[in-house]
Amino acid sequence: MNEQGDRSASSNSIEMNNCKGHLFILSAPSGAGKTTLAKAILNRFADMLYSVSYTTREPRNGEQDGLDYHFVQRDLFKKYIKEGKWAEWAEVHGNYYGTSAEFIDKNLAAGRDILLDIDVQGTIQLLERYPDSITIFIMPPSLDILRRRLELRGTDSKAVIARRLVNAKKEMARQDLYRHVIINDQLSEAIKELISTIEKYRAL
Ligand code: 5GP
Repeated sequence: MNEQGDRSASSNSIEMNNCKGHLFILSAPSGAGKTTLAKAILNRFADMLYSVSYTTREPRNGEQDGLDYHFVQRDLFKKYIKEGKWAEWAEVHGNYYGTSAEFIDKNLAAGRDILLDIDVQGTIQLLERYPDSITIFIMPPSLDILRRRLELRGTDSKAVIARRLVNAKKEMARQDLYRHVIINDQLSEAIKELISTIEKYRAL
């Protein structure tokens, strides 16, 4: 079993949700395999929308504007904070990241299910605004394995890896906020676990 703590095992924590879509929030320390898992979810559930976040960080190699992120300038991001355009926003690793309130509200009202890939700070804010959100935390098997994965990925300097690991420890300490915790030890098992978790809610 990959799932460490299924906090929705009792039927009363899986609420009926007939009139609007579901919000699935996925969080994980970087290097825990969240992007791969998010892609697997979107492949499996063709009608599920992905909430493309806005960020002020520079695009990485291969990342496409509007697909991976909406890449925006800091000034614009701050203006939208003032105008209340974010459903949630956070500063992560020195950059701003945010979720469009309009995108979420419009699509939830239209009955669409939405997948979000956001950090713990953003999850806390979204739970205030959308308390029925289904929160899922992806855990690496251990911090050592996470470090090795980040080193193998080869995209970050030693200093950046060290900062990501400090952040990972902090995020992992907040896993109790999430309804489901899935350990990504064997990728195929983690995908199965994740899909069956999501299917439970979509069947309601
Ligand atoms: P990365 O820069 O590696 O793509 O993402 C860094 C972190 O920012 C990840 O933990 C990711 O989940 C988080 N993140 C991405 N988009 C958002 C967002 O819209 N809001 C929040 N709060 N975090 C985000």
